[in-house]
Amino acid sequence: MLNARLVWLAVPIGHYLGANVGLLFTAMPEGSATLWPANSVLLSALLLRDGRGMFPLALLVLLAEVLADMPLFSMKEALLFGAINVGESLVAFALLRRMGFDSRFDTLADLRKFLLAGPVAAALLAALAGGAVYSHFRGYETSYLEFIRVWWFGDGLGMLVFTPLFLGVAEGWGRIAERLRTIRAADWAVLALAFAALAVFVAIRDGTFFGMPVTPALILPFAIAVAARFGLAVSAGTAAAMSLAIVVKTTIGHKPFGAEEAHEAVLRAQEFVLALAVATVGLSALLAELRARQHEADLANARLAEANERLEARVREKTEQYEALNRELRALASIDALTGIANRRAFLEQGHKEFGNSRRYGTPLSLLILDLDHFKRVNDRFGHEAGDRVLQQTAAAIVEMLRSGDLVARYGGEEFVVLAPHTGLHDAATLAGRIKERISRRPLVYDHRALHVTISIGVASRIDDDADLHALLRRADAALYDAKRAGRDRVALAGTAAAGSSAR
Ligand code: GH3
Ligand code: MG
Ligand code: MG
Repeated sequence: MLNARLVWLAVPIGHYLGANVGLLFTAMPEGSATLWPANSVLLSALLLRDGRGMFPLALLVLLAEVLADMPLFSMKEALLFGAINVGESLVAFALLRRMGFDSRFDTLADLRKFLLAGPVAAALLAALAGGAVYSHFRGYETSYLEFIRVWWFGDGLGMLVFTPLFLGVAEGWGRIAERLRTIRAADWAVLALAFAALAVFVAIRDGTFFGMPVTPALILPFAIAVAARFGLAVSAGTAAAMSLAIVVKTTIGHKPFGAEEAHEAVLRAQEFVLALAVATVGLSALLAELRARQHEADLANARLAEANERLEARVREKTEQYEALNRELRALASIDALTGIANRRAFLEQGHKEFGNSRRYGTPLSLLILDLDHFKRVNDRFGHEAGDRVLQQTAAAIVEMLRSGDLVARYGGEEFVVLAPHTGLHDAATLAGRIKERISRRPLVYDHRALHVTISIGVASRIDDDADLHALLRRADAALYDAKRAGRDRVALAGTAAAGSSAR
């Protein structure tokens, strides 16, 4: 941005230099400028400072204009011209502010606002006044209307070419330098080519280049190529350089458009600058707008992708949670809450598989049904809680005696089952005997009292007549019944020969 203190020096000096450049480029006998860059200085400063210091700045500019005009015009003329020029900048600024013009100048809407407020409205107003001053003081050869047109175009074009340049440069060298760093070699080549074309153009005399007829229109494509690749500052700078070149050549009589009257040459030069400026500044603004929209779209896309990713991660997380919960629920559904071993449902599920395997491969499979003796009495004497502890201890005692492949479950209230694959009746009976001993030998201490319990066990091994697990269960249950009937605290084996037999 414009340095706050520097502005008081930069604006009047800028206007003074701009006015001198303008005054230098007058191909008309009355001294009317072909291109007038000066008014862009105050306008740019006001736009950048949002109107701060408008009137002191206007006064300084008026002074600068009088100083610049003094050598060529009378004091009266100089004051009038100064007032008209300052008024033009103020009108343009006021209109732009009303329209909500953005001095970054990077949309077509901003360009349209600028064209209407500056080159069209403010410059025309100034031209009407300036043409009148010219007509009044110097209207010997030229009509009022022609004065108006030359003033209008000179001021309008000066504003159109130089305001974007000043605004672009005032963006700060930092930003411009940063942009220049991102420019590729091909872009520099285009810029170099454009200035090479300008150099060739400078060599044109009387509409010919070394005898070959050419017109300044040939540099237009190069200016457009620059505008396509660079931002506003560089595009406007290139257009300004080309405009100045054509105006200088017109002024010093190189007749870039061929042999013409001085008046005509000025008009041709202005028309050419108009086409050049509108094409380059317009394209640059259009591309800036497209790039900004693309950037916005990219940002929106990136945000969307990010949101999607977050959503997916959340869904993944939730799915994992549900799966874990499911596993837990499934586990809970198959575990007995009191003892922590499998329940009847889980036992039957797994037991059917084991039974199938045993039958398929002809391997032995044994089943123990274990029932605590007179358990009701435990509850009655020591309480239900003590009964629960006994059930837990019993489950733990059974588990302790098993091998890894054995299945154990709480089958009912005080009834447990053990399914032992690859185990024949003899080994199963041994196992049952050891479990029975283990439980009856180690009393549980509950509430400072020793709690003696015994258990009865029915044992059966799969035989070919067993249609399924239930057949095996029935036979083991029958053996358990035998054990109970025979006096409890014993193991009874199923089977025709062994029916009712006891391990003790
Ligand atoms: P038997 O020697 O003939 O098996 O006699 P019993 O008393 O053990 O048999 P019965 O079937 O008459 O009684 C079983 C008792 O087990 C009845 C019930 O109160 C108790 N019981 C069942 N489930 C639980 C439990 O989860 N906790 C407690 N504390 N007691 C239970
Ligand atoms: Mg029972
Ligand atoms: Mg019992």
